[in-house]
Amino acid sequence: MDKLTTVGAERTHLRTDSSGARTAAGGGRRPPLGNRTKTTSKPRGAGLPAEQVNPMTGEIIEGERTAQLARAERFALVAVAREVLGKDHRTGKCMQRRLPKQTVKVWKDAEHGKAFYSGVRTCARLWTCAHCAAKISERRRVELVAALAAAKALGLHVKLLTLTIPHGIGDDVKVIVGKLLGAWKRTTNGRAAKELRELLGLKGTIRAFEVTYGANGFHPHLHVLLFLDKPWSNASVHAAFSPLWQNSCRLAGLPIPSDAHGCRVDDGSKAAAYASKWGLESEMTKGHVKRGKQGGMTPFDFLRAVLADDPDAAKYRGLFRAYADAFQGQRQLYWSNGLRKLLELGKEATDEELAAEQTEKATMLADLSVDQWKAIVHARAQAAVLDVAEDKPQELRALLDALHRRWLDYRKRRANGIPVT
Ligand SMILES: [Zn+2]
Repeated sequence: MDKLTTVGAERTHLRTDSSGARTAAGGGRRPPLGNRTKTTSKPRGAGLPAEQVNPMTGEIIEGERTAQLARAERFALVAVAREVLGKDHRTGKCMQRRLPKQTVKVWKDAEHGKAFYSGVRTCARLWTCAHCAAKISERRRVELVAALAAAKALGLHVKLLTLTIPHGIGDDVKVIVGKLLGAWKRTTNGRAAKELRELLGLKGTIRAFEVTYGANGFHPHLHVLLFLDKPWSNASVHAAFSPLWQNSCRLAGLPIPSDAHGCRVDDGSKAAAYASKWGLESEMTKGHVKRGKQGGMTPFDFLRAVLADDPDAAKYRGLFRAYADAFQGQRQLYWSNGLRKLLELGKEATDEELAAEQTEKATMLADLSVDQWKAIVHARAQAAVLDVAEDKPQELRALLDALHRRWLDYRKRRANGIPVT
């Protein structure tokens, strides 16, 4: 059973990691950035482009994307990932299987009205899981913003370095990813890298690993926040990094990128803009066809294409599998040694810890029986139940009962050999 502590009329839900161990939110290892509730509960769709795709039908709809629509899409994308990667892949079980020895509960955040489940497994596979990508990325994004603020307070100068490799160098994304990360390693290790750090006064880096897909195939690339103790111009930083990146690519077995395209340096305001939107990119549904034509689908757009019955759905299934295989286990963000300490940000949480974390102050609306949860999963109604919990909690009981009756009817029909849909 979940342990609950009473705080006035509310309850504080305790954080539960995937192994079932529990720590009180706010006790034990504190989240690196204090009050997460406000940030994590903010509607993620706020401010996104008006043109959107209905995740259930693939239709482009008008109007502002709501947090509920974004959540419904995440459940839909995980269902597609389950089908594409196979139900034994951990993402296929995310927000579907129960945690051992726990019941699934429906909660509602007291301050922001956001509903969520406890007692369900999360996969922490941010490359393939829309749920975990959203949750982990949001928390990491908040840390990026905090890192920039801390750097400013220390008088450091931040640049955004973008490192790319030539397009069209083959279809084997796993091989390309290995070589790209090899090139980055050479850019940060060794004598030349040390000399560059000393020359620039480079105190640390945060490396973000991203991938898009366009006319020339997969395009993995790196965005690196550089924390410098001297106010160098963009041109000076470029002049220092570009030859090192080119040489590192050569040694890693990649074609040598051009001076103009391989390495780009932007100043602090671009770095701040990048950090503030980081991780939201994969959530921005603009219509995969239009987006693809503009050059640059994200891997979650492959799943959107499958969901929308795109004529090329078979191709996108294959691409998603190749991508999942290539990125599995890769770090999405990497902080150079000592930088977190310098910026006083504390220990970095693992993907697993972030995916399982729940710190919201919340009220419990329902403690579901095993059958009730099975009924919800069977009807793929996980998002719908949370919508009702948020908008019409008084109708939650009736919805759960209706889903349960449908589940019992389904089981009865199956047991009697009556065709079921
Ligand atoms: Zn997941």
